[in-house]
Amino acid sequence: MTAKEIHEKILVADSHCDTPIMLRRYGLDIGRRSDTGHVDFVRMKEGGVNASFFAIYVSNKWEPYECTFKALEALASVLDVLDRYPSMAALATDARTARELKEQGRIAIFLGMENAGPIHKDLSLLRLFHRMGVRYITLTHARNNEVCDSCATKEKRWHGVSPFGRELIAEMNRLGVLVDVAHISDDAFYDVLKYSTKPVVSTHSCCRALCDVPRNLTDQMIKDLAAHGGVMQINFNPPFLDKDYSLAVAPLLDAYEEAEEHFRENPVANEKRMKEAKKDLFALPRPSYKRVVDHIDHVVSLVGSDHVGIGSDFDGIEVCPVGLEDISRLPVLTEELCARGYSFTDIEKIMGGNFLRLL
Ligand SMILES: [Zn+2]
Repeated sequence: MTAKEIHEKILVADSHCDTPIMLRRYGLDIGRRSDTGHVDFVRMKEGGVNASFFAIYVSNKWEPYECTFKALEALASVLDVLDRYPSMAALATDARTARELKEQGRIAIFLGMENAGPIHKDLSLLRLFHRMGVRYITLTHARNNEVCDSCATKEKRWHGVSPFGRELIAEMNRLGVLVDVAHISDDAFYDVLKYSTKPVVSTHSCCRALCDVPRNLTDQMIKDLAAHGGVMQINFNPPFLDKDYSLAVAPLLDAYEEAEEHFRENPVANEKRMKEAKKDLFALPRPSYKRVVDHIDHVVSLVGSDHVGIGSDFDGIEVCPVGLEDISRLPVLTEELCARGYSFTDIEKIMGGNFLRLL
């Protein structure tokens, strides 16, 4: 079987993208092919993508009520676009529906939540978001919250998971909402493994052995996650894939984000600065898509092919690997896995099967 035939036959699933941000912030119509962002239904189809988790993201900087409101807005925008294009995509909450939709030539859109902020400390709100379709929650994002500490902060608040976080995990386990350990601190990771009675996932992280940044998982963490039945989904974000790139790009990314913020406040006055920052950012040579497969190889070498997959982080990342510029390019990963000697069964598991197994 050729790589193309394999890619068409298997169910391809991406466990994390931030496309709801594009719907809300830019009013993007993802039912049509777009040059903006990395994901729309047309490019998903071109890339042979059958299922995708749209992350309902909220910032740790927002006030609690603002978090819940913005999560509802994001959720509504996803449901609206699904209503608008029923022949292209539909909401899914389980693997069986995703398979049925693939048979019908439609894309399964799942919902995840990135940062448990919208739950406040109210398990009723967790149950409400579960009813609305949310099937995993990334416990926090770039700061410590009421649930646990973030990997991104120097000062830790809980040194792991908070007492409320423990209750939240128990209720998520009961409902069948997956616990996502991406973005959380190492201590919080180990608390999650201690408290969760169900397998847990890392929906968009890479290997610290190949790129030593706090957002990535150590070999021991990967082994412990796998021993607990979990799955690690490799992120496409170049600064998590390659340490040299990560160091070189950091000041350029800071400058770009600052320019973007000014541009949003006053587009006319800041357009030139924004363009220059973007030019500098993209002038730096980026790692190839093959680096994503290096991270997959590394996880397979540690724990076998049952515990790894892909979580693109598209629409949440500023730059992409060379050859993997948007969701339509996904077949290059299947090609590379074939070239490296992976079997049909292994590729089927890695490109989506492992993640869907846990739903
Ligand atoms: Zn993220």
